[in-house]
This record gives sequence, structure tokens and C-alpha cells, in this order.
Amino acid sequence: MTTNIETAAKTLTHFIGGEMKEGQSERFAKVYNPSTGEVTALCPLASEAEVNEAVEIANKAFPAWKKTSVAKRAEVIFNFRNLLLQEINQLANMIGLESGKTVSDAKGEILRGIESVDFALNAPHLLKGEYSVNVGGKINSYSIKQPLGVVAAISPFNFPVMVPLAMTSMAVAVGNAVILKPSERVPNSALFISDLWKKAGLPDGIWTIINGDKEAVDALLHHPKVYAISFVGSTRVAEYVYHEGTRHNKRVAAFGGGKNHMVIMPDADIDQAVTSFLGAAYGSASQRCMAISVAMPVGQKTAEAFVEKLKTRVEQLKVGAYNDEEADFGAVITQESKDAVIRSINESLSEGAQLCVDGRNPEISETDKGFYLGPTLLDGVTPEMKIYRDEVFGPARIVVRVDSLDEAIQLINDHEYGNGVTIFTDNGAAARKFTEEIEVGMVGVNVPIPIPVGYHNFGGWKGSKFGDGHMFGPDTVRFFTKSKTISERWNDSKQVESKTEFSFPSNQ
Ligand code: NAD
Repeated sequence: MTTNIETAAKTLTHFIGGEMKEGQSERFAKVYNPSTGEVTALCPLASEAEVNEAVEIANKAFPAWKKTSVAKRAEVIFNFRNLLLQEINQLANMIGLESGKTVSDAKGEILRGIESVDFALNAPHLLKGEYSVNVGGKINSYSIKQPLGVVAAISPFNFPVMVPLAMTSMAVAVGNAVILKPSERVPNSALFISDLWKKAGLPDGIWTIINGDKEAVDALLHHPKVYAISFVGSTRVAEYVYHEGTRHNKRVAAFGGGKNHMVIMPDADIDQAVTSFLGAAYGSASQRCMAISVAMPVGQKTAEAFVEKLKTRVEQLKVGAYNDEEADFGAVITQESKDAVIRSINESLSEGAQLCVDGRNPEISETDKGFYLGPTLLDGVTPEMKIYRDEVFGPARIVVRVDSLDEAIQLINDHEYGNGVTIFTDNGAAARKFTEEIEVGMVGVNVPIPIPVGYHNFGGWKGSKFGDGHMFGPDTVRFFTKSKTISERWNDSKQVESKTEFSFPSNQ
């Protein structure tokens, strides 16, 4: 049954063939403003038939884009980058409205996303192949990288702009037709950037938005003309997408959840570690795959000093609406998300964790029905507890005390996830041992969150990534192209070879 608020909510569209297209399936998801709890829009959920139609349109547009000079393609990317910067305020506001994150955090996300767009400007250089002269008998041999055709990106709610830009910029630049299936919880931002692609001069059909849920994802995974899938979301779904996509002979890079540790050594600057932990752990209401979720102080003295200072600072953090300039972070994405975080806290308490700061009932104006949680800090968490094993996607952070660096490394290596990790220390030998032995894809030393810059590869290990691709960075050129090797001979004159070779030529 629809309420008055829902009937007042606007109905969104897809973006197919360069136009906003109404959904045909008559299935919709509610889009909330997490800061007020109101339904602001209805997101169409595409049927398999709608996905198939969009793939055909993209497939028709692909050959001309493939043949467009790489310099012209880079020009479109350049225009798109400038438009993103021009519209940053409006776009940041839209991200805040639909995801709950603060506007300043949303601006940061856009700027980090633009790093991937910037890197895609290097496509003319990155697409250069290899060439060997006179490999034998007047033959030259060379390899080229060609686009795949239609490729798809499936993105999560927590970075409505940064993750889609990271997944798709290089795919467009190297000549593919891209279909983005954004999270049905944050579809506005993706539609907004579609307009910018069009204004930048991208031909119709090269950028498509299919809004939807599992039905649309399955249709993309099964379509024979979709050649690669880049997925970002929870581990359970990432693993499914990887298996289902590869079973249908596609390239798949599927990025999942994380449980990121910060190890604090006895020689670390405790104030620096505390300040770094606060932003890295609670920023975006901890809804980041690279958020630090576990503080792991080494030794009792380190733990006492760290927890005492951290507790005071955590108590001072302020949760608020996305447009509240005083807020350190905003609401979580849905009421279900909020309930799940509270459940995790309660379970950990029944297992023996100690509550240092309780954020389960934050003080927010009574008229506000938003999905708010204050910052929670739990000490005395042990590796056996569920809250240590699970990814908790909300502002409940934990302290796990260990006795040595070896114990820290062992616990982190034994954990299901391997997205990011960081160590705070003044000891180069400890840092070196840590970076060498740790089984995690992105590692920091004295930095809060080790997200690589746009021109390095992004991707975790273990349960944080399935497949052999990266979300952004140089590796995406390989992921979104296929390499072709050509051997060619041009004789000096039209002389015909008089001798037929039946044995395999050795080129000696
Ligand atoms: P999610 O897995 O619920 O959704 C991600 C995408 O998958 C969405 O587009 C959604 O529509 C689709 N989807 C959901 N259920 C599906 C199903 N059963 N079958 C097919 N498709 C399905 O994730 P979310 O809640 O939107 O995002 C948060 C998660 O994403 C967290 O676990 C976070 O750690 C992870 N994440 C990971 C990275 C990374 O780089 N590793 C980056 C951002 C977010």
C-alpha cells in the first residue's frame, strides 16, 4: 500500500540510448532521505526484457565508438571531468540527500572519483601496444589492445558517484559501451552523471543506466553480449556474481566487504593514531569498504593509553543531517541497516564485550525520523566474537588487544576479509615486516585509510575480492580490453614463395 508521502515522491527513470526512459516493469524500490526517513523517489526495477533491449542498443552504438580516435575519446573524458567539477555542489547535495553522508564528505567522494577520470585521460598512452621488427623472414610482429564491446558495472549504495566513476571511466576511454546498474537505494546521482556524459559529447548508447535489483543483475550476468562485469558490493553477492558471471564465460572482477584493522605499536605516536582512527573509523557513518573497524593496540600499556584518549574523542563526535555543517557524519542508509548495527552491538555485549561509548540512542531532534546512530566504541572484543568476524556497516567500532606484532599479523591473516589494513609505528623494521607478511590487498603505514590514488591499482584479497581484476588503476586497461597479436610480412616485390614449408618454422 502506498502512503501519501510515496505518492508525492517522484518516479525515476533509466538512461538508455542517450535518453531518460520510463521503466516498464511496474516494479519500484523506495528511495529514502536517510536524514529524515522520508521516501523521496521511486526507483524503477528493470525486467529482463528491458535489460536485453538496453544491451542491444549499447551493442549497436559500440562499433562507432570503438573506431573513434582515442584522442577524440579522451576529449570527451576531459569534458566530462570539467562538468563534474562545475556541478560538484549540486552533485554533492544529491549524494547527501540520498545516502545520508555529509555534503563535505560527498564532495571528497566526487574528487576521489575524478582521480579515476583523470587517469582515464591517459588512455592514448596506455593503449600503446608492443612492436617487434623482423622477427624472421621480413615479418614484423605487434600486439594491440581492443575494447571488449558491451561491459557492465554493478555498484553499491555507499559511494553513489566515486565507485561508478572508478569502475567505468577507463572502460569508456578504451572504447567500450558501458552499462551501469547503480544501487537501487541511490539512483539519482547515477542519472545525474548520465546527463553530464551526454553534455560532454559521449555518443548515445555508450553510457546506459539500468536501474534494478537482482533481476536486472541476473539479466546482465546471463546476456551473451555482455563481455565483462565489474561488481562492487557485499561479499555474499560478490561471490555469487563472480561464479554466475564466469559460468557464463565473462570476465568478472567482484569486490566485496572488508574488516579493516589498525595496528598501533608501542612506539607509535598515540595522538596521531587516535586522530587518524576517528576519521577512518567513523567517517561516512563507517559505511566504507575501507573504513577502519578494528583498533588493535599491541601491549597493555599501548592499549590503556590509546583507549583512554580515543574514548574522550569518540564521545565528542556529532551525528547529524547530511546538510548539517557541524555533523562529523550522517545517518545510515536504512532503518534495517540501523537495526542490524544495534543487533551486532547487543550480541557483542552478551558475548562479553565492554561498552566504552554507546551510540545506540543518539540525541537527535524528536521530529527527526532519520536513521541515526551515534558512535559506539567497544573494548575487550575477542577474535571469537561475531562482531569481530562480521563486517559491521555502521558506526560501531571495536578494540581487540594483542600482545605482539606477530599475534596481530596472525589474526589479520586468519580473517575472512583482506581489503585494507594500516599500522602506526615509528619503527621501520616493524613496518617492513608488517607490509611483507600481511595478507591484505591495500596496506598503510602511518596513514589512516590506505586507499590508493587513481593511478595505482585498487583491490583487496581473500573474501574482499573475487576474480583477477582491479576496480581502478592501470590494471583496468587490461581488464577492459583484449589483446590481439599480429604477425605480418610485406615482401619487397610481388615475388611468389617457390618453396612450401611443411615443418614448423623456427625463425632461425
Ligand atoms: P549489496 O551487495 O547489497 O548491493 C550491491 C549491488 O548488488 C547493488 O547494485 C544491488 O542492487 C545488487 N544486489 C543486491 N543483492 C543482490 C543479489 N542477491 N543478486 C544480485 N545482485 C544483487 O551492497 P550494498 O549494501 O549496496 O553496499 C555495501 C557493501 O559493499 C559493503 O559490504 C561494502 O563493504 C561493499 N563495498 C565494497 C567495496 C570494495 O571496494 N571492496 C567498495 C564499496 C562497497
